[in-house]
Amino acid sequence: MKIDLHVHSSDLSLCGHMSARETIDRYIEAGFDGFVLTNHFSREMAEHFDRHGIPQTEYFAHYKACYEKARAYGEERGFLVLCGYELRFDGSSNDYLVYGMPDEIAADCLQFFGIGPEKFGKLAGENGILFYQAHPFRNHMKVVNPACLFGMEIHNGNPRHDSRNDIASAWAKKFDLHKIAGSDCHQSEDVAVAGIEFEGRISTMEELCEILREDRYKIYVR
Ligand SMILES: [Zn+2]
Ligand SMILES: [Zn+2]
Repeated sequence: MKIDLHVHSSDLSLCGHMSARETIDRYIEAGFDGFVLTNHFSREMAEHFDRHGIPQTEYFAHYKACYEKARAYGEERGFLVLCGYELRFDGSSNDYLVYGMPDEIAADCLQFFGIGPEKFGKLAGENGILFYQAHPFRNHMKVVNPACLFGMEIHNGNPRHDSRNDIASAWAKKFDLHKIAGSDCHQSEDVAVAGIEFEGRISTMEELCEILREDRYKIYVR
């Protein structure tokens, strides 16, 4: 199976230029079997939706409802859409990719946006959540204690940023972190440029997390 681990849609990411439906159609054309929707998940986004009529307390429910629409359309087309997050903590420009976060924990986002990567990393470890720093060596990113991370995105495909993937890869190797790749797809030129490939078929986030935990995949870069 070929899966992209870093994909945005315009309904939940202000910087996204393609709807989830269009993105799914394009990934099918590109020969992918699925992707994880990792929309921006931050207090800034909660405040944005609040200004547009969705109270902050409803932010998580809104996030899930948008994901659910994408999942249902994917299912119609035989394409797997899983729910992840690109998390940002208050007062920092770092981004983190999160997989396998149970809804009970994600629903508490207004609390954990404020706790930072060290505490969240601990929470993630205790709850089997996979916590990776996204594009860790892009401009304005700060190095975090590798001990709080499960892994790093060592290949980010976004062509409008220099993510210094070579440095991310060397860093992940030095600190023995799990390594993933994703397109960071925001618009049509970004579709299907990176991801992972593995044997066999999966249909749930739990199964994806197992593959990620055991490193049973190859990095795919177009
Ligand atoms: Zn974005
Ligand atoms: Zn992203």
